[in-house]
Amino acid sequence: KQTTDLDLAVLVQEVLALYPIKPGIKFNTDYEAGALLIKGDPVSIRQVVHNLVINALEAINGEGVIDIQLYRVQKNYSDFIECAFYDNGPGINEEQIEQIFEPYVTTKAKGTGLGLAIVKKIIEEHGGSIWVDTRRKIGAGFIIQLPAV
Ligand code: ADP
Ligand code: MG
Repeated sequence: KQTTDLDLAVLVQEVLALYPIKPGIKFNTDYEAGALLIKGDPVSIRQVVHNLVINALEAINGEGVIDIQLYRVQKNYSDFIECAFYDNGPGINEEQIEQIFEPYVTTKAKGTGLGLAIVKKIIEEHGGSIWVDTRRKIGAGFIIQLPAV
């Protein structure tokens, strides 16, 4: 795998540009100004964004809003970039949150249950973490955190 400096704002925009415009589906993006650089494999990180967007699209089922936010945070004197994915679909039951990152766990008739397991593996390989934003009252929210360059 390749490791390069990646600007997450550029990478997220590149992934979003792949999705055809559809009436009823709205993407909102909010990127903090300045470079949002991480170190990683562009193919893998694109896969992460893609899997989370696909899940959001499946959750809203043709009608809804997907919000993507990118910003810097400082925790324990280290800098991280966080990317939050929010949708206004049905959300995730509190009891299910522990399981959804396990491989082959799906609530969809034709789901593989692999999307989030792959996301988690890639994020952890990059020294980062992912969690569900449980403070969110509407829909679902996933936050990925990666070490900043
Ligand atoms: P799959 O999409 O094939 O079901 P994933 O690993 O991508 O597998 O997701 C696992 C499960 O997590 C889904 O079946 C669904 O229950 C839940 N999930 C993931 N993303 C969302 C979301 N944005 N809104 C609601 N539920 C979600
Ligand atoms: Mg999925």
